[in-house]
Amino acid sequence: MKKLLLLAVTLPALAVAQPAPDRAGQLRDAALNGDTVAWDFLEGLTTEVGQRQAGTEAEARARDWAVRKLTQLGFSNVHVEPFDMPVWVRGVETAEIVSPFPQHLVLTALGNSGATPAQGIEGEVVAFDSVAALEAAPDESVRGKIVFVDHHMMANQDGSGYGQFGAPRRQGPSIASRKGAIAIVVRSIGTDHHRIGHTGVQSWANGARPIPAAALSVPDAEQMQRIFAHAGTRPVRMHLTLTPRNTGTHQSGNVIADVPGTDPSAGMIVIGGHLDSWDLGTGAIDDGAGAAITVAAAHRLMQAGPHRRTIRVVLFGAEEPGGFGGDALYARHHPADHVVLVGESDFGADRVWRVEPTLAPANAALADRIAALLAPLGVVRGSGAADAGTDLGPWVRGGVAAVDLNQDGTRYFDIHHTADDTLDKVDPAQLRQNVAAWTALLAAAADAPDAIEGVTPPPARAR
Ligand SMILES: [Zn+2]
Repeated sequence: MKKLLLLAVTLPALAVAQPAPDRAGQLRDAALNGDTVAWDFLEGLTTEVGQRQAGTEAEARARDWAVRKLTQLGFSNVHVEPFDMPVWVRGVETAEIVSPFPQHLVLTALGNSGATPAQGIEGEVVAFDSVAALEAAPDESVRGKIVFVDHHMMANQDGSGYGQFGAPRRQGPSIASRKGAIAIVVRSIGTDHHRIGHTGVQSWANGARPIPAAALSVPDAEQMQRIFAHAGTRPVRMHLTLTPRNTGTHQSGNVIADVPGTDPSAGMIVIGGHLDSWDLGTGAIDDGAGAAITVAAAHRLMQAGPHRRTIRVVLFGAEEPGGFGGDALYARHHPADHVVLVGESDFGADRVWRVEPTLAPANAALADRIAALLAPLGVVRGSGAADAGTDLGPWVRGGVAAVDLNQDGTRYFDIHHTADDTLDKVDPAQLRQNVAAWTALLAAAADAPDAIEGVTPPPARAR
């Protein structure tokens, strides 16, 4: 914890010699200096519910908890919109090197992993430096073996390494399966050096039979490199036990809460985060924080009094296993609802460092105003390529304007999808800065005098 506090960013102090801020500026500053709603929401959710794996009874308890909390906070139209989804749950997960250097390794199963028999499997390990190297390997070199895939992801502020270096998790299992491997272990898609695995979803591509698939902790992946170097020509053999299972179709759901506006013809703003989490931690940074931040910002607008556009907060179900909640919302509400602007918070709890306003040319004044309101928070203006995340991305691809408030991702992938995703990793001052940024955005957009127009969908980006 000491180390984390040292890492915490010093937030810019607000200059004293500026003209008196307008309502949006006042709301922003009040959030920055004194918001307690986001922390209270996040602390309550992670304590009273804990992990919230999609489609399980834990996620159902989280929906009940959120409905009660949002109702207490005074939101309108609080309700759940259920949908069905296939559910996969973790079982036993152990691995040992059998020879030439017997030892235990730490790993965790990837979403939709196949299972070994209860007694596990044993096989020779074949190692690859990248998914491209695995793809290029002759099938005979892989058939009947356990594949290990390494990668070279480093931490960076915008988190862009996740798209590129996530390939071993996303594509590796299907490629290994098609080549006849009996199992695959990948280096965790993470940037820490703690002995914990990073889980995450992967889907079996056409024709790929499910095989056991897991992520080694980063220290254990590095240990594998050394084991191979020291083994020389001796085969490296692994014993692997993974017993996850598919439990069938179960219910998930999106939790909806509104702050009604005064002018229904001006359209609705939809923001949110996802309520489900992976099962290993308590889902504090992914994505209890995003839910808490957007709830707190909308609550500030509610308390400030009447504004023009309705603000809808959606706490999405089942994001982690494949964006089921985002797809369900879009299918149900597009184009029936007049949604004019969307934005999701789903990149942890560290400070907002960049704004990406993707608004129509006719709304240049609004984009300028949002950027100006965020500048005192140290937020830089990007080139305008918002994608609104997994959950609200369908709206952007459908031509709805979006604003991304990009969070500092430097330490996000140290914690992401691990047992370490717990409340103590959240810095309260940076959480308040997030609420301030979302409050400023909502205040500007909710009362923007001009119509908020549709946009040309941006080209798809790797996530
Ligand atoms: Zn997330």
